[in-house]
Order: sequence, then C-alpha cells, then structure tokens
Amino acid sequence: MTHDSASLYVRHQAVLPSWLGLFYERPLELTHGEGRHVWDAEGNRYLDFFGGILTTMTAHALPEVTRAVAEQAGRIIHTSTQYLSRPMVELAERIAALSGIPDARVFFTTSGTEANDAALLLATAYRGSNQVLAMRNSYHGRSFSAIGVTGNTSWSPTSLSPLQTLYVHGGVRGRGPFAELDDGAYTAACVADLEDMLQQTAGGVAALIAEPVQGVGGFTAPPDGLYAAFREVLTRHGILWISDEVQTGWGRTGDHFWGWQAHAGNGPPDLLTFAKGIGNGMSIGGVVARAEVMNALPANSISTFGGSPVTMAAGLANLTYLLEHDLPGNARRVGGLLIERLRAVSAGLDVVREVRGRGLMIGIELVRPGTGEPSPEAAALVLETARERGLLVGKGGLGGATLRIAPPMSLTVAEAEEGADLLADALRTAQQRWA
Ligand code: PLP
Repeated sequence: MTHDSASLYVRHQAVLPSWLGLFYERPLELTHGEGRHVWDAEGNRYLDFFGGILTTMTAHALPEVTRAVAEQAGRIIHTSTQYLSRPMVELAERIAALSGIPDARVFFTTSGTEANDAALLLATAYRGSNQVLAMRNSYHGRSFSAIGVTGNTSWSPTSLSPLQTLYVHGGVRGRGPFAELDDGAYTAACVADLEDMLQQTAGGVAALIAEPVQGVGGFTAPPDGLYAAFREVLTRHGILWISDEVQTGWGRTGDHFWGWQAHAGNGPPDLLTFAKGIGNGMSIGGVVARAEVMNALPANSISTFGGSPVTMAAGLANLTYLLEHDLPGNARRVGGLLIERLRAVSAGLDVVREVRGRGLMIGIELVRPGTGEPSPEAAALVLETARERGLLVGKGGLGGATLRIAPPMSLTVAEAEEGADLLADALRTAQQRWA
C-alpha cells in the first residue's frame, strides 16, 4: 500500500459511515477517465468494465457532454423547477416520446432512489393504498420507502417501512421453488402464485415495482414475457405496474431500449423510472407516467435540484450521442461477443456457476467448487486480481458472489476481448485457489 492510499483509507474511516460499501481492500482513488478507461491517483490505467456504476453510459470524458455542461454552466447553472429551462423541456419531450407510455409526463429527480420514491408516492396516491408488490432479491434505492420495497437482504437493513410490501416470485430465474421448471411452466407458476397472493391478501394493492433485469441482485432476469403475464393479472385488479429501468434503460440490454419491452405483450408499464446512465455521471433521475397518474398528487411537490439545467444539457447531449452512434446496437453486438467469449473462458472452471445476461449487462456467478454454494470470497479474489491486471468490474447478487460487467456502451470489440482475457486470468486464479 502506498503512503497516499493508506492515508486516504484512514481519512475515509474517520469521516464516512461504516456501512458505505467500498469494493476493494485498498481504496481506489480515481482522478480522470477517457473513453472506456480510468486512471487512479498512482497513475495506473484501468479498463472500466463497470462504467462507474452503469453511470458512464456512453464514454468517460465524452467531448460532446463536457462541452454541453460547460456551455450551459456559462449561461445559467440552476433555475429550480419553479422556472422552465429549455434543456429540461427538451429532455422531457424526448424521454416521454421514447418511453412508450401514452400521454406521458416526466418528473425529474436527482437519483434513482428519488425516482422510485416519486413513483411509489404517485402510485399509492392514485390508488389510495400503501400496499405494494415487489420482487424477491430486488433493489430499488436507499431512501426509507425504496429500502421498504427492496427484497435483497444485504441492501435492506430494516423491515420497518412506510409501505406494506409483499414479495413476489419471479425475478430470480435460478432460485426458489420454481427454479427447475422450464420457462413456460416457471412463468405459469409465478403467475398462479401472484393470483393466489392477491386472493388471500386483505386490502387493495397499489402497484407492483420490478426491475426487468435485477441489477444489484446479480444481473438475473426472468423469462421474457413474465411481466406481460403479470400485467394481465395486475390490470384485472387495478394494480399499477412500475418498471424500474434505472439499470436496464437506454438500450443497455441490447435487444430493447427499455427492459419492459421484453415483456410488452400487454402494453407498456404505467410508470417507468430511470437514472444512472442518462446523465453520463451527472445526477439525473426521473419518473414517467400517464398524465392521470402523474397528476394524482393533491399537494404541491418540487425537487430543488431535479431537472437542473446543467444536468439536463448533459442528458440531452448524451442521449443524442447514444442514438446517433447506435450504442444500443453496439451493446447488442459487442455484448453478444463478450458473453460468448466469457462463456468460453469459463468452460471447465467449476468456480463459475453461470455466465448470464443480455447486451452489456453480464453477470458471472461464482460458487465454491463442489458445493454449488455462492462464493463471495471467490468474487472478491477475482475483483482484486482483475484490479491488479488493470480491469475494474462490479459485484452483487446473493452474498455478493456475482461479478457484474456493464462497461460504457461504446465498448469496442478489441476492448471486449482484452477485458475478457484479463478476467479469464483472474477467474483461473480463483479456480486454482479453491481447486
Ligand atoms: N433502482 C435500481 C434498479 C438500482 O440499481 C439503483 C441503484 O443501484 C437504484 C434504483 C437507486 O439509484 P440511486 O443510487 O441513483 O439512488
């Protein structure tokens, strides 16, 4: 450990809360980035396979975004939502049109947590009930209500919540009582379970909140169409569907612009929440809903920093770049190659249980060889080894045993191959440790 990172660690311990999760044994202090790479304070260069935390959607230091931020900051930095700014209205128009929700309205926040908070507030106000359905193993943010609908035990430290939450089967394909069923039977079993729950539960449920692909939960997805099948049941009961697209939005999953589109059989969700990548690291979150749901609140509501012009200008420039350079298509093509390559290098390594995902949202679940039990130790070792080799990845899933790969969506084929080779090396190190 160098003197600098040691003193940074001491300072971090002195001022930050103990529950703040840092990935690495030695803290990593980043100084700058470019494209798909970042540099640390010691001058080391890393290929960024986690894109911040899926926040660097297009590329680090993208000139188009940097320029838009500087120009807007030179004009006016803040207007608050009591005034309009052109970038806010333009970004709202573009997101409303892209959302697929008819008669859509957009409310901007500064994070994914607040976006989900707002969506839950709107849905419960609209329905006059504080009962909510959420998925097992889900993650929706760290406010009181977002924690209240988070199923993932590592991230939901309290059972107290302003909402009454009922957890539904279906979000995690490989676990639970229906895990062994084929896709069709799995979906039918989850739908039957949902129907049964609704019949046997007192009170009217306001909404279901669900991530189309669970992010923090380890990049695990249900069979396509599951939420469309749920939707039919929900509509019969008057229950709203909130699709949490904080990780899955903007084409990251390759095949679709939104995660809900893999479940589109019975129409779009009633509410959609977004954040992470749209600002390329600037703080933008938001909720999209039909006007009648968006206007359900009987009182004034404002977000002082939500929709701030500098962030909106960044979002507009970033979205324009994403679409003009067809980065969703790139996520599909390069993500497809990357997952194949990762599957190939993992074949024969029994420390790897599964390589899964879609587009540039790829999970590698690690287990203790011979037991099949999730291995957070193996994941931590791979993370550290990859860092030494110059590659940053994320982790999550049950007990933190899944490596999460979500690079900026401009990833090139050469970078995908380089990252896969570095990761292969780190996976072999973990395999040798436990063989
Ligand atoms: N929803 C999902 C699916 C997320 O993955 C996250 C963050 O990881 C959030 C909500 C919360 O977003 P934020 O950290 O911006 O508050």
